[in-house]
Amino acid sequence: MAVPDKILTWQMVQPTSRNKETGEVIPGRLEKTEIPVPDLKPGEVLVEIAGCGVCHTDLGYFYDGVPTVSKPPLTLGHEISGRVVAGDEGWIGKEVLIPAVMPCRQCYLCKTGRGNRCLSQKMPGNSIGIYGGFSSHIPVPSIDLCEIRNRGEIPLAHLAVVADAATTPFQAAKRADLQVGDHVIVIGVGGVGQYMVQEAKALGAGTVVAIDIDGERLENMLSYGADVVINATGKGPKDVSNEMKSIRKQKGLPTYGWKIFEATGTKPGQETALTLLSFTGKLIIVGFGMQKVEYSISRLMAFDAEIIGTWGCLPEYYPAVLEMVLSKKIQLAPFVQTRPMSTIADAFDEAHRKSPDQRIVLVPDF
Ligand SMILES: [Zn+2]
Ligand SMILES: [Zn+2]
Repeated sequence: MAVPDKILTWQMVQPTSRNKETGEVIPGRLEKTEIPVPDLKPGEVLVEIAGCGVCHTDLGYFYDGVPTVSKPPLTLGHEISGRVVAGDEGWIGKEVLIPAVMPCRQCYLCKTGRGNRCLSQKMPGNSIGIYGGFSSHIPVPSIDLCEIRNRGEIPLAHLAVVADAATTPFQAAKRADLQVGDHVIVIGVGGVGQYMVQEAKALGAGTVVAIDIDGERLENMLSYGADVVINATGKGPKDVSNEMKSIRKQKGLPTYGWKIFEATGTKPGQETALTLLSFTGKLIIVGFGMQKVEYSISRLMAFDAEIIGTWGCLPEYYPAVLEMVLSKKIQLAPFVQTRPMSTIADAFDEAHRKSPDQRIVLVPDF
């Protein structure tokens, strides 16, 4: 195993900001640099990074003023696969996923099964010191690692997306208490939403309806778990709701008990979700946005319905998601592209303009 004498990394030297007086935008800056390999404490390992996905959250830190816990300069990136090269003997040489959020395993939330929202949790590219995934290596606790075995012909770099994009929907399905035969609506089939569709189906959902404004993406989802798609382009929540009504009628599906996953984090997406929420339904909020949405909360009472938030994914669930990937119950290849890590600035720029159809995974090329 090659243990490096330094870590090569793309640090966020400064996030995008605004001059308070002139209002002028000061663009964020990424810089290639070297940092020392830290002394590993017991229970820590050094992972040689195979790939790190570019997530919406990274872009929020870099472009939109969402603050990181560790102050810049730090390295972003929390969707990581790689190989252990130093530390804990038992882990050396193993291929691993590094969970995007690692619970403290000490606090009340951790002890009561809510560790995915542990308040002392560590996240690469945010709160593990200055370390993040857009690097050659990263030191992490070994307790939460998910070992990858028998990955066959699936590239290790592709599996990076399991560390975040593909695990968040699994936690969302748990929050929804998704059962075999449940009818599901997924709003937004981008980076996270398309895995939501695939996993809902893999977990035994009856009917899966996918809603988006990108016709091509929707068409594609018909081959990956969606039974019906609704193109919401130019339609308001009421129009979508009427379309759902006729789909239900046509297919003899109930008006009650639908589990709705909102993955866009946008106002139209959330308004559509709220309009679709009906008797004994559950709405799971998977996407993030800063806007406010108006809703008559008493409808929840009348419908005996629920709105539930979901955050990250417990490391305990990672092996289950990885198994779904390795057994081809969910597909990665059509939804991933790899690029050299040296193109990080362009990749950020591109993903910031429009969330790509295929998740960009950056592969170290220092
Ligand atoms: Zn993420
Ligand atoms: Zn905790």
